Amino acid sequence: GQTMNAQRNGVSINGRDYRWPERPVVVVCIDGSEPDYIEQAVAAGVMPWMKKVIEQQGSDLRAHCVVPSFTNPNNISIVTGVPPVVHGICGNFYYDRENDREVMMNEPELLRTPTIFKAFQDAGAKIAIVTAKDKLRRLLGNELTLGEGGAICFSSEKSDQVTLAENGIENVLDMVGMEVPSVYSAELSEFIFAAGVKLMETVRPDLMYLSTTDYIQHKFAPGSDGANSFYAMMDKYWAQLDALGAVIALTADHGMNAKHDAAGDPNIIYLQDEMDRIMGAGVARVILPITDPYVVHHGALGSYATVYLPNDADVSALKTELNAIDGIDAVYGNAEGCKHFDLAADRMGDLILVSSKHVVLGTTASRHDLSGLDVPLRSHGGVTEQTVPLIVSQPVVSLDQSQQLHNYDIFNLALNHVAH
Ligand code: ZN
Ligand code: ZN
Repeated sequence: GQTMNAQRNGVSINGRDYRWPERPVVVVCIDGSEPDYIEQAVAAGVMPWMKKVIEQQGSDLRAHCVVPSFTNPNNISIVTGVPPVVHGICGNFYYDRENDREVMMNEPELLRTPTIFKAFQDAGAKIAIVTAKDKLRRLLGNELTLGEGGAICFSSEKSDQVTLAENGIENVLDMVGMEVPSVYSAELSEFIFAAGVKLMETVRPDLMYLSTTDYIQHKFAPGSDGANSFYAMMDKYWAQLDALGAVIALTADHGMNAKHDAAGDPNIIYLQDEMDRIMGAGVARVILPITDPYVVHHGALGSYATVYLPNDADVSALKTELNAIDGIDAVYGNAEGCKHFDLAADRMGDLILVSSKHVVLGTTASRHDLSGLDVPLRSHGGVTEQTVPLIVSQPVVSLDQSQQLHNYDIFNLALNHVAH
């Protein structure tokens, strides 16, 4: 062709420099992929490609995700290369104090920085993004030029409704050869990889981002048949992308842990009830940033919460009292919590709470519909779900080993630290 990609300059965005990819780079965010899932699936012999990458061909690293260990803040951190204090997406949900309303962080105008995709598209790169749920699609595709010849950006959830104008592609179902998957299914994620392989065969984007849903991880523990067959499925598609000449870099938005007792009942601290007991009914407002419209598989229960208080509240006395509750691991004030976790202070409450490994935080019992939980609760949100895989299909070179790696370093690794 006329364009020699290898001769192009890289891009700088959000204070980081990225080299131009000499061959396609595919970054995969495996939703809820506690490191154990891949380790046990490899040990069970169902991920032959992954086994080869870990043992011979590539790099098997671990990283931290952003806390709260939820989907939106971590996906946005990955695609901007910076933590929430910079990009502003601190949870799936926040409370807008000025307008007294609870707001879903789906709206692109809440994003405070451009994405790596935007910077590369401006420099002439072809971008393709496929995600499971449509709620993430607009954030990931923020500011991209779509339409004919532009970026491709769609969700498997709404794969039957794609248009050239909105998604940069048409007839996705025909291309993939699958029907629209249910929002609660393994196929919702499989569709993403099937589409990714087709796009690599046809469009061959410079940068591709594939982001799944954690429906399977909420349901099945590492090493179980349900988990292993899901990881075996992904392994086949990654092998195909590798064979097509792409660099493949895999991470997760967060881990996943069992949040139930020996009898299988969820371990829940109903935090609004605790706040009402301490301060009086309705004085404090508990926000659970895991809340979103798709709660059947976790009942809107995670290991992280933020609390909005009246101006005259005694924060340090509340911290002491809440810290004494069995199952609460840490309570921070707004400033110290935001500093500790790299969060945006104006998108967080006055208290930030993290529960322990097998405990979740709820509001009041009546507000959580647990009828959809057909298996013992597994969830995330806390520090105990912070360790995630960071696996690259090639050797990673000249990395500063003294720095804590984050999942949002993955574009840096794939673009700047892979020997091409
Ligand atoms: Zn997630
Ligand atoms: Zn989840």
